[in-house]
Order: sequence, then C-alpha cells, then structure tokens
Amino acid sequence: MTYMELNKRQTEIFEIVKADGPITGEQIAERLKLARATIRPDLAILTMAGFLDARPRVGYFYSGKRPAQSVADSMTGMRVRDFQSIPVVVEENISVYDAICQMFLEDVGTLFVVDQSSFLTGVLSRKDLLRTSLGNNELEKIPVHVIMTRMPNITYCEKQDTLLHAAKKMIDKQIDSLPVVIDNGGGLEVVGRVTKTNITAAFLSLADDHEL
Ligand code: ADP
Repeated sequence: MTYMELNKRQTEIFEIVKADGPITGEQIAERLKLARATIRPDLAILTMAGFLDARPRVGYFYSGKRPAQSVADSMTGMRVRDFQSIPVVVEENISVYDAICQMFLEDVGTLFVVDQSSFLTGVLSRKDLLRTSLGNNELEKIPVHVIMTRMPNITYCEKQDTLLHAAKKMIDKQIDSLPVVIDNGGGLEVVGRVTKTNITAAFLSLADDHEL
C-alpha cells in the first residue's frame, strides 16, 4: 500500500492546524491569503484521510491519530520476535499423564516435543491429550511420541517473520499455535511460541498505537 502524499498546500494547512488548532477554515484561508472555497477540497482530503479532525463551532484540529494508511504500515512491521511467548517443551518419552500435568502447570494449550538434542520432533495439543484420555486409564504408560503430531508435518515460524505471516499459517492449517524455531542445519531449535492470544494482543496494541 502506498502512503498518501500531501501536496504543498495540504502540508501547509496541516502544519498550521497542528501548531495553532483548533482553528476555523476561514482563519486558515486568511493565513494562506486564499479564499475559503479554494482550500475547501484540501480540508476535506485532510479530514477524510484522518490527518485532521473537524468539529462544528470549534474548527479544525490535529487529531493526534496516525492516518489510517499507517495502520497497514504498522501491521506489516510487526514481527514474531516482538510478540512471541516462552515455549513449553517436553521430552518424547514422558507419559501422556505427565504431559497433561505439565499443560496444567504451565497454563498453556500446546506443548512442543523435543529429542535428546533438544530438536523439535512433535506437537501436543489439548485435544491430542483428551483424545488419548478417553476410555484409557493407563496414561502413565503411553509415551507422548506415540500420539503427537510429528515432524515433518509441523508448521513453524522464525522470529524475523511477520506476525501476519504467522497468523495466516495458523488460520490456513487450523491450529492454535506455532513453534518459533532456529534452523541450525541439524534440526529445529525451539526458541518461542506464537499463539492466537499473541495475535489478539498484537491486534489490540495496533488499536492502542493508533488511538482507535
Ligand atoms: P486442539 O487440537 O486442542 O484444537 P490445535 O487446533 O492447535 O489444538 O491442534 C489441532 C491438531 O493439529 C492437533 O492434532 C495438533 O497436534 C496439531 N498441531 C497443533 N499445532 C501444530 C503445528 N504448529 N504444526 C502441526 N500440527 C499442529
């Protein structure tokens, strides 16, 4: 998306309002030695694009909000590394029973499974554990590697990826979280976790930054 360019007169009007607002259209026109009608289209553009606000009997003032276009800029600038959470990892041989306890203790919805070299081998979701628990009372005896979703079927991201890219992966694959990994040749080292909660937090921070 291209950032809206203001022409010279629009920039002058914006600067006047920013410095001296609230100010009426008449007063702005006087300052520029132009007719009120001449600057009317410029004022319309500036208010519609969100650069300025206008109120009857008050005049034009600087809204302090960033114009709508820059929401897109902020969004594409959001990186996984700025919003990721700490990952919770377990070893392949722990039991389903212990994994359930771990999930409660750590208060997470997904566990990542690693091998002895600490490389990512699997993912365990709430429903993976629930499914195994149904009608099974020997959960201490089942190792998680039997039930986990395993490599190479794991969707992951890296910390420099955009948050938008990570969000799209979660929606496309219908999953709640992604491991954030460093690919160091031999395997994937898990360094973070991106969840739908992180995406919601990012969504809110966007609104906050733009005073929406
Ligand atoms: P739940 O199963 O609790 O609804 P998810 O929607 O995250 O949670 O998981 C759905 C399925 O996808 C589960 O079988 C899980 O193992 C698997 N899964 C979860 N996250 C990933 C991932 N990042 N990559 C591949 N598979 C995943």
